[in-house]
Amino acid sequence: MPNNSPHHQNIPLPPSEGGRGGGLGLGLDPTLYVLSVVDDTTVDGPGFRTSIYCAGCTHHCPGCHNPQSWAQDGGREMSVEELMEVIEADPFAPGVTFTGGDPMQQAEGFTALARAIRARTNKNIWCYTGYTFEALLHMPAQRRLLELVDVLVDGPYIEAQRSTDLLFRGSANQRLIDVPRSLAEGRIVLWQR
Ligand code: SF4
Repeated sequence: MPNNSPHHQNIPLPPSEGGRGGGLGLGLDPTLYVLSVVDDTTVDGPGFRTSIYCAGCTHHCPGCHNPQSWAQDGGREMSVEELMEVIEADPFAPGVTFTGGDPMQQAEGFTALARAIRARTNKNIWCYTGYTFEALLHMPAQRRLLELVDVLVDGPYIEAQRSTDLLFRGSANQRLIDVPRSLAEGRIVLWQR
């Protein structure tokens, strides 16, 4: 999502055991489609973070830095538990970032993952998406995920508004939104470092 986002050290992913639909097939542990997991990155939010690059994005922004992420079947299937093992293996990293691809297009899986992160760690959650905050408020499944996110980096990448001076994002239309405060106050509150 953030253009110019270098992919740091890729963690070797464990082999997937879940089938399409994932886990036990009972909806308890939904499958996520993942391109890569990047450990200790500092470009997808503040501090050292575990970034999960998901597969699948239908926005197809011209100039997208990562068009190989557009096809969902370009990723590998991972369960929430497999991802939690990777996240919990780095207990000192203060945050997790969902990026891609568009995590909001796998809202059920990322909601389950966000709930596990909330229940089992003190890590904050950042999420990149090609949708605007306002649009997500009217998308029930996506809103459930939104409500578990600390900071949303929203909107498509717009090449005409590209800047390399922007913090944690690629184009000036994208916003770093403090989600809990924005929901509580009923207006967009931008995240402050
Ligand atoms: S939303 Fe992000 S991943 Fe999707 S096309 Fe746009 S820049 Fe690329």
